[in-house]
Amino acid sequence: MIALDMPQNPVKSQSEIIWDDCLKVIRENVPGMTFNTWFAPIKPVDIKNNTLTIQLPSNFFWEWIDEHFSALLNRALKSSLGDDAKLDYIIVEETEVEEPRYHNPIISIINSKETAKSDKPEFQSDLNPKYTFDNFIKGEGNQLARAASGAIADNPGGTSFNPFFIYGGVGLGKTHLIQAAGNAIINKFPNHRVKYISADRFTVNFIDSLQSNKGNEFNNFYRSMDVLIVDDIQFLIGKEKTQDLFFHIFNAFHQAGKQIILSSDKPPKDLKGMDDRLISRFHWGLNADMQPPDLETRMAILYKKANDFGMTVSSDILEYIATNITSNIRELEGCLIKLLANISLTSKEITLGLAKTIVGEISTAKKVNIGIDLITKCVCDYYKIDENKLRDKTRKQEIVLARQIAMFLSKEFTKSSLKTIGLHFGGRDHSTVIHACTSIENSLITDSNIKDAVYIIKNKIELACS
Ligand code: ADP
Ligand code: MG
Repeated sequence: MIALDMPQNPVKSQSEIIWDDCLKVIRENVPGMTFNTWFAPIKPVDIKNNTLTIQLPSNFFWEWIDEHFSALLNRALKSSLGDDAKLDYIIVEETEVEEPRYHNPIISIINSKETAKSDKPEFQSDLNPKYTFDNFIKGEGNQLARAASGAIADNPGGTSFNPFFIYGGVGLGKTHLIQAAGNAIINKFPNHRVKYISADRFTVNFIDSLQSNKGNEFNNFYRSMDVLIVDDIQFLIGKEKTQDLFFHIFNAFHQAGKQIILSSDKPPKDLKGMDDRLISRFHWGLNADMQPPDLETRMAILYKKANDFGMTVSSDILEYIATNITSNIRELEGCLIKLLANISLTSKEITLGLAKTIVGEISTAKKVNIGIDLITKCVCDYYKIDENKLRDKTRKQEIVLARQIAMFLSKEFTKSSLKTIGLHFGGRDHSTVIHACTSIENSLITDSNIKDAVYIIKNKIELACS
């Protein structure tokens, strides 16, 4: 116990003394990296009535600590303040534009270490400077991914988010975010060698290097990087040799404490056909999913993009677009570009009528591309069952569920009538299709397994059509 009325160190405030005491307990119980990531940034701000108030940099921080370390934090607090100790917290978000940080000793150490590397050959990072944190709109669906990217950009390789693995459907901002992290790292640590590459390009380049007897050079080149960003890692599926090489590069990076950032269209466990050793490594750091944006975020994105394009669009038109294009940010952008193209060709004004026509065209184009056959295939791929089973009379539980999901998605994605959908699935009646749709709609609320399955299958379908 600390005697609160007799500060032991005149320079430190009471809250600092108590927090230092808590940190001692915490430090003994978590690995160093975890301590640096989650506890070092916390500042004690006040102590009143046995309640210690701490300051955290974001809500995400608090949620993470509360979920993973609340017991430890309580224990530390009680050992310092006694059994009736309480904790309160405030969030003070840091501004996006950082102060120059040249005086930060940690950074200058990294930089001086880096100068020794300047003899390494020049290379293209392949980062697109247009992707930044500043023009990435935060929303509920990307909160974790965005916050973690920021933490990584501040301290690449130095947090427990290594690898950082983000996954989610098409057009949700994965490429934007991982490249923004890369650009931010280069800004803060100009000597860091940051390489961005998509997994399919990585595969092609690797095969080329083998054919020209330059396999070693290829390998060494990647190992000479400080940060490696690989987009759409699912494209390594089925490419065993490339997976093997990537496995070794991954290990070398991880051992050296160098940051790896990956994106994927699905979570690691669903990367069927990926080496199990890689899948287990993908789980080592942080996995963050990106969900489709909610209405508020879609509106914010449209406002920003319209502004960037120099367009004046009234808010009722933006709201109409945001309400009707819901699944994907690339489509929101596509809609604005089409509007822009239309008015520049005809020098007409942007009207609600024009927006309705364009939104209609986008939805129809999507529905034309997606057919019941594709939906059936994606559902059966997911459940690993034969497509004929969905047309059979089988009432086995798993088949019934797959059939109901396929009917539900056919109703959602295609313009087919209930009757046509029923016919596709073994000549079933339209009332069976209605029953399937309501049953799945209910399960989406009550059953997280079904919700996850539908989410992944939908992504597969959209990916196949994009
Ligand atoms: P993904 O890689 O997930 O398929 P992208 O990163 O290519 O998606 O995003 C598609 C488009 O949408 C890009 O032009 C990107 O800049 C934009 N975008 C995605 N998310 C956001 C966001 N949160 N804020 C602003 N623009 C975004
Ligand atoms: Mg992408």
